[in-house]
Formats: sequence, structure tokens, C-alpha cells
Amino acid sequence: MIVARTRAELRAARATMGTVGFVPTMGFLHDGHLSLVGRARDENDAVVVSIFVNPTQFGPNEDLSRYPRDLERDLRLLREAGVALAFVPEPGEIYPDGFATRIDVGAIALPLEGAVRPGHFAGVATVVNKLINLVQPETIYFGQKDAQQCAVLRRMIVDLDLPVRMVVVPTMREADGLAMSSRNTYLDPQARSRATALFRALEAARDRYEDGERDAETLRRCMASVIAESGDPVIDYLSVADPETLHELDVVANGALLSLAVRFGNTRLIDNLSLRRG
Ligand code: AMP
Repeated sequence: MIVARTRAELRAARATMGTVGFVPTMGFLHDGHLSLVGRARDENDAVVVSIFVNPTQFGPNEDLSRYPRDLERDLRLLREAGVALAFVPEPGEIYPDGFATRIDVGAIALPLEGAVRPGHFAGVATVVNKLINLVQPETIYFGQKDAQQCAVLRRMIVDLDLPVRMVVVPTMREADGLAMSSRNTYLDPQARSRATALFRALEAARDRYEDGERDAETLRRCMASVIAESGDPVIDYLSVADPETLHELDVVANGALLSLAVRFGNTRLIDNLSLRRG
């Protein structure tokens, strides 16, 4: 596996490869990331993975400085997974002096994560656009775990005619349902066990939906009651939204995206589940 630290090293290595599947990450890899890598390996001649904790997508009071990192372990996992090229730039390589551009993807980036984390998606869209231009992949892989991120980036790829196919890979979960996340490592044992409430809340609302409930507020209250039983964490949002626009629904008529963001102490967790139409 080639480890590229500069844009020039990345471009030189990429030029020797056939079709490339690209998996952008912030590192501290887990099986969720590796499922994206596996899918990319199945569908391309070579896999490129970036590890970059992108400072511009973190707010001033967020966890940038304490975001977990273990580059040696990450590189070992990527080597074992058959990755051809790891791109591990320093912030100054991505944002040299004078860097000023920000990509605003519009309405889809405003609710939910966008409302709680102003500027977050501009940071994500800008870095992903830049990484696509550098890596020039045929296909780029994202996780359903970050459903709004997928919607934002799909919008950007379509609107800017970026020459890349986008694939969304299902959420990988721990045995008890908790969505895998690098941030799970922040959870102390008590919070770790309470954190299972996120997926249980989504499942409870999905069960109500499958039993015929179509009133979105009832589904939100159903999620809230499961979350409240888990030590009353701070709820950033509980959402039953249109899967295309992410506008909150009154009535679920054509499917929905259930999503939530909850804070256990300093640890903020997100999860989501799709309700199929019908
Ligand atoms: P991150 O390192 O958290 O920025 O994630 C890098 C990519 O992995 C993003 O496309 C995420 O949506 C995806 N990802 C993170 N966690 C999971 C998971 N549990 N299952 C599937 N994909 C995931």
C-alpha cells in the first residue's frame, strides 16, 4: 500500500491505477469504514482511502482537538483490507495559505445536522469536492449512517456535474444495535449501555409505522419516550422527515427518514432508519 502525504504524491500514485473506488474518512477506523472499503474493492481495480480530520467541518465548541486518532492502526487495517493507496494529508496540505472557497449546497444542508452544526456541511462539501478532484475516482462510497451527509453530497455531485458515481452503504451496527462510530470510544460503560436507546427508539417508531401509524408527531413522541428512559440525555433533534427534502412531515405518506441526534455528556451520537413507502 502506498501512503501519500502530499497532493503531488497522491496524483502520481493514482495515475498508475485503473478504475478507483474512493472512501473518504476521518480515521480511527471500524468495521463500518471497512464495509465501505470492501464494497469499493469488489467494484474497482483499486481502492483509495483518505484519512483526514477536516477542521473546517467542526464548530468552535466541537471535538476537533480530541477526535480519536491512531494512524498506525488505521494503516495496518487498510493494508490488511487490500487498499492500494492511503492519502493522509496534514491540514496545511489541503488548506494552503490563502485558501478561501466554501461550497454552499443550499436547503438540504440547513435542517437537522445543519441546524445544530452551522457551517458543518459547507466544510464537508468543500473537502469532499477537493478530494474528488485530487483522487479522480470512478466511484465514491459513503455510509447511510450519515444520511443527511449523503443527501448533501449527492446534491453537490449532481449540481456541479462531478464525474463520479456515488454509492451509499448500509449502516454497520454493534451486536446490540448501536451504530458503529469512531465517537463511540468516548462513551464510558454507563453511557455506552444507554446509547443503545438510539437504535431502540428508531426501531420502536418503525414498529409503530409498520402497525399502521402515519402521524409523524406520534412517531416522534414514540422515539422521545424510548430516549427518555435512557438517563434523559440532551436531545438535539428527533426527526420524521421527507426522505428527499428532509423537511419535517405531518403525515407519513411516501416513506420517511427517521433520524435523531442525542448527547450523552460530551458525546454526540446520531443514527437513522428509513421507513419504506406503503
Ligand atoms: P467518518 O470517518 O466518520 O467521517 O466516516 C467515513 C465514512 O464512513 C462516511 O461515509 C460514514 O458515513 C461511513 N460510516 C461511518 N460509520 C459507519 C457505519 N457504522 N456503517 C457504515 N458506514 C459508516
